[in-house]
Amino acid sequence: MARSVDGLKEYRKKRDFKVTGEPEGAAPPNGSSQRDLLYVIQKHQASHLHYDFRLEWRGVLLSWAVPKGPSLDPSVKRFATRVEDHPVEYGGFEGIIPKGEYGGGTVMLWDRGTWTPEVPDVDEALRAGELKFTLHGKKLKGSWVLVKTKSGYGGRGKDSWLLIKHRDRYASGDDVLEEKPRSVVSNRLLDEIAKPK
Ligand code: MN
Repeated sequence: MARSVDGLKEYRKKRDFKVTGEPEGAAPPNGSSQRDLLYVIQKHQASHLHYDFRLEWRGVLLSWAVPKGPSLDPSVKRFATRVEDHPVEYGGFEGIIPKGEYGGGTVMLWDRGTWTPEVPDVDEALRAGELKFTLHGKKLKGSWVLVKTKSGYGGRGKDSWLLIKHRDRYASGDDVLEEKPRSVVSNRLLDEIAKPK
């Protein structure tokens, strides 16, 4: 399924903004922006813990749900399911999604920064199923790739991708999820966000 530039319809359809504190998302700005492109990973304790990997592109956040989270080890491939585009303001969201709402649970801003495409044409790279990029986050840096899996080209796994670290000076065998479990904006752990004092 192709996603349009102002592709927040699916995002909005799933949520009741009278109930959840998540942003509704403004209309995307017209024209190109000189601002750096936002990159964010949200650690999301919903029915299952996962990491939501988001890259700003054309006024929205392209989004993938990564069940096991990113790995700094280039030999490790992490499954990433492409999900609906999110509003750019979502990249500032940390807090609680009410129980019973879509994605109900706790959201932590696990990493945030900017990203730079390593391809001349991002839209074409997305279509071709291989997007290379550099991350400038607080936790994740250097070169990465998202590759669409073979099953990602049809059938049930059509939105299946792999998130892989490229070999560079930021590659490592360290378990970044274990070693850096706290929010980059509030320094809180998930359960501290879930049960504010
Ligand atoms: Mn999520």
